[in-house]
Amino acid sequence: MSDNRVYSYSAVLMGSPILLKLCSHDEAMASRVFQLIKRYEDLLTVNRAESQVMDINHAAGRHPVTVSRPVFQLIQCAKAASMVRDSAFNLAIGPLVKLWRIGFHGHSVPDAADIRARLALTRPQEVILDETTCSVFLQQPGMELDLGAIAKGYIADRVRDYLRQQQVEKALINLGGNVHTLGEWAIGLKKPFADAQALIGSLTVNGQSVVTSGTYERYFEQDGKRWHHILDPRSGYPLDNELDSVTVISTDSLDGDIWTTLLFGLGVEKGCAALRQRQDIDAIFVTKNRDIILSSPQRLRFAPLDSGYQVIDCTA
Ligand code: ADP
Ligand code: MG
Repeated sequence: MSDNRVYSYSAVLMGSPILLKLCSHDEAMASRVFQLIKRYEDLLTVNRAESQVMDINHAAGRHPVTVSRPVFQLIQCAKAASMVRDSAFNLAIGPLVKLWRIGFHGHSVPDAADIRARLALTRPQEVILDETTCSVFLQQPGMELDLGAIAKGYIADRVRDYLRQQQVEKALINLGGNVHTLGEWAIGLKKPFADAQALIGSLTVNGQSVVTSGTYERYFEQDGKRWHHILDPRSGYPLDNELDSVTVISTDSLDGDIWTTLLFGLGVEKGCAALRQRQDIDAIFVTKNRDIILSSPQRLRFAPLDSGYQVIDCTA
């Protein structure tokens, strides 16, 4: 007889509620998973005075800092994504994130002159990497790496690896918006700007990562406008287009995390075109005028749950 029970374990880490679902009761496993998440958070955070990433930031304009191989590789990958032509992803966005303070106490729309000044400190080509020594050097004083857009994805992949190595066949980890799975799971997609329980649809995946980035997650209102936390590295202001959210389905959560930001920058039309070149990445766009656009209706197992939204495919 098969036991279909699911056991849920939760914690608050990285400023987000973390949820782990296992198919057997195993407190010890859950606490090892939370420990692992904490360890990686300690390496990657920029919201505390100390971490390997903060060591790099503190040495900006002065000297290179040697970091551990995994941190170096993550930064290498983040730099590559940032150097793509017209990329909306930028690992050096730190000075602008700090200026806006979105999601933190004391946020307000900064002066245009301040934004311009900070833009000059966010050039990804001025993040100098040395593979032989695993060192990272920020060329200008005041430059700051911010891996906030990909840290959860990277850590979700490490949790997946760990669970797999422990011979776990079915599990789900949700790191506040980054879901990763072993085995088959149905995942609810949140309705933008509605209460936390409201869903626009359900997505069934098997062993894949599902990352959602939405303008409704962290924002503030000022001058009759919403200012959210995904910044356009070209303008220094929050990305402003037809999108409320993007969900990316991929094998690795790190790719999902990078692609949510890239697709946010591209918008629906260019985003769909970019995804036609990538069989390994799928996306669900949710627009302000209540369209749900599937990049690949054949591959995605998506069931709509809200009649106020209409589902269309990328080719439409
Ligand atoms: P969340 O899952 O917390 O909603 P995202 O994955 O959408 O986060 O990333 C948003 C975070 O990434 C911001 O809080 C900020 O730290 C950082 N960030 C904001 N804009 C960019 C950008 N254009 N490129 C890279 N990182 C960004
Ligand atoms: Mg992200």
